[in-house]
Amino acid sequence: DGIQLERVREFVWEIQREGDMRVPARVLASEALLEEIGEDKTLQQLKNATHLPGITGHAICMPDGHQGYGFPVGGVGATDTENGCISPGSVGYDINCGVRMMKTNLAYDDVQGHEEELVNALFANVPSGLGGGGVVESDIDTVEAVLSRGVDWALEEGWAVEEDLTHCEDEGVRPDADPSAVSQKAKDRGKNQLGSLGSGNHFLEVQRVTDVYRDDVADAYGLEPNQIVVLIHCGSRGLGHQTCTDYLRKIEKRHGDLLAELPDKELAAAPAGSELAEEYYGAMCACINFAWVNRQLIMHRVRQVFERVFDRSWESMDMHLLYDVAHNIAKKEIHTVDGEERELYVHRKGATRAFPAGHPEVPSAYRDVGQPIIIPGSMGAGSYVLRGGESSMDLTFGSTAHGAGRLMSRTQAKQEFWGETVQDELREQNQVYVKAQSGATVAEEAPGVYKDVDEVVRVSDALGIGDKVARTYPVCNIKG
Ligand code: 5GP
Ligand code: MN
Ligand code: MN
Repeated sequence: DGIQLERVREFVWEIQREGDMRVPARVLASEALLEEIGEDKTLQQLKNATHLPGITGHAICMPDGHQGYGFPVGGVGATDTENGCISPGSVGYDINCGVRMMKTNLAYDDVQGHEEELVNALFANVPSGLGGGGVVESDIDTVEAVLSRGVDWALEEGWAVEEDLTHCEDEGVRPDADPSAVSQKAKDRGKNQLGSLGSGNHFLEVQRVTDVYRDDVADAYGLEPNQIVVLIHCGSRGLGHQTCTDYLRKIEKRHGDLLAELPDKELAAAPAGSELAEEYYGAMCACINFAWVNRQLIMHRVRQVFERVFDRSWESMDMHLLYDVAHNIAKKEIHTVDGEERELYVHRKGATRAFPAGHPEVPSAYRDVGQPIIIPGSMGAGSYVLRGGESSMDLTFGSTAHGAGRLMSRTQAKQEFWGETVQDELREQNQVYVKAQSGATVAEEAPGVYKDVDEVVRVSDALGIGDKVARTYPVCNIKG
């Protein structure tokens, strides 16, 4: 579509600065992935993002990038916190959508023969789908406490143990959270969704480790071949969605002058230092806390389900949290730009933080090897655990991909696939047991709607932004 890409070096492509672009844009991809990225509006959206005030370095598209609302999914944009801006569309509607992985000491053998029972028990006990209800019943006061205290609230309520906090980014709480900046409507939506997966792309998956690539790091993470692990993917539900909507509207209204200068209305941004920038940041951080608690409650419920199915305590099955990563988030972080330390809002939308060994923000358990990164593939493909790579700070503001990335729209997926057929095939050909609220969801999320996760991870590893540690494969999957 007329957007020229110049090859900088292997897997690095650049859109040169022109017109009102403040910085160049970069795409990190193999040629095969680049071709897919070029098929939708991703490149145009990436180029548009370079118009954001205060954007620094490059607007960057990860190898799993595809078009999103305004800013591409798989996009990273770092803007100055003093003279830049913050942009809700560059965080995404599902604030702190993310994944966490829990380990077990079970082997694939221990689970084989119990898949049906396990998938049914998980489906019955972990709320999913569009309907209301979460793992816990909550009221507005509970929501307020969750918004300000994050996983610490879950600890006090008996839904977490101390080590769950130390194995979560920021120990499961963003101190900048401002619950008063979250609207009543958003809180009401969150009220009966605390501890629920939601629908569509969100899932809970029991997996087995198939491969280990870096023994020392896998040891530090406690991963080995054949081990059973559990992956949970969900976000802040209606509460985060409503918060994004609320602030997009407010920002469009109040900062129309800035909006008029941007090439796409969906990039609406609040200037750094403005009231709305502060309010949105506080509200977003509160939603981050909500999503962490959401995943924590689901994880703890999974422990209880395993206890029933395997008739042992969760502690005896070593069901410990490996890590929890956010992939829709903007964070104030210090980065070195042209030899100078600057505070930036790092927008990671469909992108995962990937801090290397030694970085002070990597939890102490992993500081020597780098932070764990979790990259889901699909219900019929591998998923990966990576570790933050040495080049991530220089190349991507400490970020890498967040998944395989979508290849086709939901509408197209429903034309190409039939839920029941997909489910039967997964069961017969791949020994994967899927249970979903609706056949349509299975069709929309069929393995064929996603790109090749192996290729995405190959690029991340080759660039040294996120290094391959282990690969997993689905055993049981529940979908909303
Ligand atoms: P998103 O957060 O953008 O919706 O998706 C994250 C990634 O999860 C997708 O890019 C896709 O690769 C992956 N994914 C979607 N459904 C499943 C699933 O059922 N199982 C696994 N392991 N990964 C999935
Ligand atoms: Mn989400
Ligand atoms: Mn997500």
